[in-house]
Amino acid sequence: MNVKIERLAIIGVGLIGGSLVRALREAGALKSVVGIGRSLPNLEEALSLGICDEITQDLVEGVRGADVVFISVPVCAIPGVVAGIAPALAPGCIVTDGGSVKSAIVSECEALMPPGCFFVGGHPIAGTEHTGAAASFATLYRGRRCILTPTERTDVAALERVSRMWRLAGADVCLMEPGHHDRIFAEISHLPHMAAYALVHAVGTADVEGENVLSYTAGGFRDFTRIASSDPAMWRDIALMNRNSLLQSIDGFSTSMAELRRRIAAGDGEGLSEFFTTAKLFRDGII
Ligand code: NAP
Repeated sequence: MNVKIERLAIIGVGLIGGSLVRALREAGALKSVVGIGRSLPNLEEALSLGICDEITQDLVEGVRGADVVFISVPVCAIPGVVAGIAPALAPGCIVTDGGSVKSAIVSECEALMPPGCFFVGGHPIAGTEHTGAAASFATLYRGRRCILTPTERTDVAALERVSRMWRLAGADVCLMEPGHHDRIFAEISHLPHMAAYALVHAVGTADVEGENVLSYTAGGFRDFTRIASSDPAMWRDIALMNRNSLLQSIDGFSTSMAELRRRIAAGDGEGLSEFFTTAKLFRDGII
């Protein structure tokens, strides 16, 4: 067997962490996996599904002897988790994460690493609106990108090992500066989630002569708003942690909505056609 990781500790055995383990198991890249979390039912599910070999609710116990620690809890919890495990890390241990925001996590977690241990920030560009160990599956990362966000403090060998781990899980690895990552993902991921939540909120609270307008929704509304079913705690954390970039993105979106409103109010058919055609061209250009 092609064992690359002797003991992998997964903190937060949900969709992202569970899927990574499943993919690495299929690749024959793991010797043993310890799952670490807060609630016993999710950990027991991860054990019964064969994702983990051992489970514990004790962070410090769980990371002892691990050569790689992968953290996949909501982003605001990641620095606290790293602070908690740092004194228990084995020499040479690599700590990495799958959080959707990078700047704050990378700078805080790098500073928390004890000498001889290494932090590498990461973000797999794959997911669903479902959560928990039971939602995980081995092919989640196949053919998808995983962005790693090294800094000048990143250990080159640790970066290479984490890159290899993601490639074994099926992902295409690319490198990006953490702040650049946060600006891009504010636009293409975090803003769309905010727009979906805001749209469903607006329609769900719309008062049209006492009618429950949501009962009339059809395919288009459902397609567009699927991501508003995503976990509220995860998105609360992303919105708070990527606040500055996200506010810029929301301002851009507000400007776009205001322009659209202006053209509708003015009865500007030509302007509306031009607006929609430009958007359609952008959308059709997405591969
Ligand atoms: P998930 O399925 O809900 O898994 C999160 C896990 O973290 C759960 O096992 C949960 O178990 C544990 N957890 C929750 N809050 C915690 C806390 N405060 N402290 C410690 N553990 C906690 O979520 P996920 O989709 O895997 O997301 C995990 C991470 O991946 C997040 O940082 C997210 O930004 C990132 N990510 C998500 C996606 C996506 O589309 N879902 C894509 C890319 C990256 P307990 O409640 O039992 O502790």
